[in-house]
Amino acid sequence: KKITIAIDGFSSTGKSTVAKQLAKELGYVYVDTGAMYRAVTLYVMRNLFVTETNFDVEAILRHLPFISLKFVFDEELGHGEIFLNKENVEKEIRQMEVSRNVSKVATVSEIREMLVKQQQEMGKDKGVVMDGRDIGTVVFPDADLKLFMTASTQTRAERRYKELRDRGTKVEFQEVLENVKERDFLDTTREDSPLIKAEDAIEIDNSNLTLEEQFEKVVKLAKD
Ligand code: C5P
Repeated sequence: KKITIAIDGFSSTGKSTVAKQLAKELGYVYVDTGAMYRAVTLYVMRNLFVTETNFDVEAILRHLPFISLKFVFDEELGHGEIFLNKENVEKEIRQMEVSRNVSKVATVSEIREMLVKQQQEMGKDKGVVMDGRDIGTVVFPDADLKLFMTASTQTRAERRYKELRDRGTKVEFQEVLENVKERDFLDTTREDSPLIKAEDAIEIDNSNLTLEEQFEKVVKLAKD
């Protein structure tokens, strides 16, 4: 039987790494919902000059019908890459500029509704591993397996820093640490915060787990 697996947690907890591994192992579809929020953010930054200080919700809402998102599977990578209106934006959405604005864009309820609907459609009737913030609570409250990933702020900032550096992005560690803290704050403090651990989610703190140890643990849970 094909099941639905929801993986939630803070940024840079290694959610996407474990979700991709798991999807590959099980032959399931992998959906990175953070990429969807990031792609919408990129669109509004480009077309409406949205920044942290310039944020016109009305204008954003008028543009929503013109934002089309699609994941295209890449054989070589073994997972999908996100396309925004037919343009591959997988790389661009990882830039710090986008990271700085995404949590704010993600507070717009109309955007959340639009993306949640698309996510539910993508995960319907097939094996899916979806990672995000609200998958186990909002998108698939009936998911067969819910994981909630955590790791210390320092560990997560170090991972993000290494990721950005490996990709050739010039960035200071302090800046990355501040961004991780700020997004945590925005993602958890607002009233309708998307990041709540579902009651039936299994928490995995991977601060001190190797990727192999984590994978072993998760595969076992998925196959049980
Ligand atoms: O997972 P990632 O760090 O790429 O997500 C980027 C941002 O998108 C998060 O910091 C959060 O503000 C938002 N997000 C969300 N709900 C999701 C996935 C991501 O609000 N399901």
